[in-house]
Amino acid sequence: MPLYKLPRGTLDILPAEQVYWEYVKHKAIALCQLYGYQRLDTPAFEDFNLFARSMGEGTDIVDKEMYTLEDKSGKKMSLRPEGTAPICRAYLEHGLYNLPQPVRLYYFATVFRYERPQAGRYRQHYQFGFEAIGDADPALDAEIISMTWHFCLSLGLKGLCLQLNSIGCKVCRPHYLENLKRHYSACLTQLCPDCKARLIRNPLRLLDCKKKSCQEAIETAPKSINYLCQECKAHFESIQRYLELLGIPFKVSHRLVRGLDYYTRTVFEIQSPGEGIQNALGGGGRYDELIEELGGKSTAAVGFAAGMERIILNLKRQNVSIPALPRPSIFIAYLGDEAKAEAIKLAFKLRQAGIAAITAMGGRSLKAQLRQANTFGTSYSVIIGEDEVKSQTVALRNMTTKEQKTIPSTKLEELFRRD
Ligand code: AMP
Repeated sequence: MPLYKLPRGTLDILPAEQVYWEYVKHKAIALCQLYGYQRLDTPAFEDFNLFARSMGEGTDIVDKEMYTLEDKSGKKMSLRPEGTAPICRAYLEHGLYNLPQPVRLYYFATVFRYERPQAGRYRQHYQFGFEAIGDADPALDAEIISMTWHFCLSLGLKGLCLQLNSIGCKVCRPHYLENLKRHYSACLTQLCPDCKARLIRNPLRLLDCKKKSCQEAIETAPKSINYLCQECKAHFESIQRYLELLGIPFKVSHRLVRGLDYYTRTVFEIQSPGEGIQNALGGGGRYDELIEELGGKSTAAVGFAAGMERIILNLKRQNVSIPALPRPSIFIAYLGDEAKAEAIKLAFKLRQAGIAAITAMGGRSLKAQLRQANTFGTSYSVIIGEDEVKSQTVALRNMTTKEQKTIPSTKLEELFRRD
């Protein structure tokens, strides 16, 4: 019996699963290259206050879900619970505001949240995200949203729904929140205990409660887009025009808010068909006040993040066909010590010539070695025995037809280079 188990809410990504991960990463990188976004990697942990300040005390993530510890010097550090704040920290720290704006960046990041694990919800998950920092132009919101759409389509996902909303800015949102609170206070008895607490700390989040008891209050709640100031209204209309221009279908959803405090104006989410949390593939929005909150000058920005596990789950659900990963071309089997030395030498030579080869190990029977070749899925095996060592030849076996022929070992490189 193994002594240790996988931590709850985490995943081992086994070799058979890697084909999906490689596929999604490859599509993500290709997308960012198409749109001119550059990669920025940040560490897995940061100062606790970076997250507390950016996401806001009172949010579930800061209050309940962060993995925080004191390091040996007594500093409070947190495992990254999201990717945007670290990117903004790096933008400020490395003076990226001196570059021509907007700066367009992307990242892959492990994200840690102490949540209740279920299908599609983990305590460690992996996000792919992109951010455009340094411009308030609604065309930039449209660019980020179109990238999101393009990304999901390029993966082969179908039946997607893009939801869009505007939650206003610091000028118009307080008035909206007052009205929202008034509405909810009048139906307090219907609300679930979580929503009762949210009413004081984070009233926007009342709108995305999934509990049955809260649905009526959500349906009748005031809508943020009816409280937007002139600038926010114009911004929101402009994004919609750009999306129409690009032929990207979207649905304005009054219930759409995001879990983090830093969003301003635009919020959007992309969902796959069906029920449940697994359908929220990714989301994003504008965060025009975040950089200033972190000590920089007032700097507008917009971004998006998707959960890789959720995307993979939906690729499987929709039976999207994924190209296989490259496999070694040749498996090298041997019989006896002299042949083993030849096999090792041959494999090294082939790899140096750029031909992927894998050798047997130990002293297993030829049958067992060929069985292993089958599990690797190599098209050919090379078999070296005493006779082949003497004659400087190899037996080349086609693993599909089982045909076998003897060829000089020097021919092998030439044969597979052409293959
Ligand atoms: P968020 O940072 O909450 O906006 O999340 C962005 C995306 O990451 C979501 O749309 C999900 O696809 C994914 N995600 C968020 N939390 C989790 C989690 N606990 N486990 C797996 N994926 C997650």
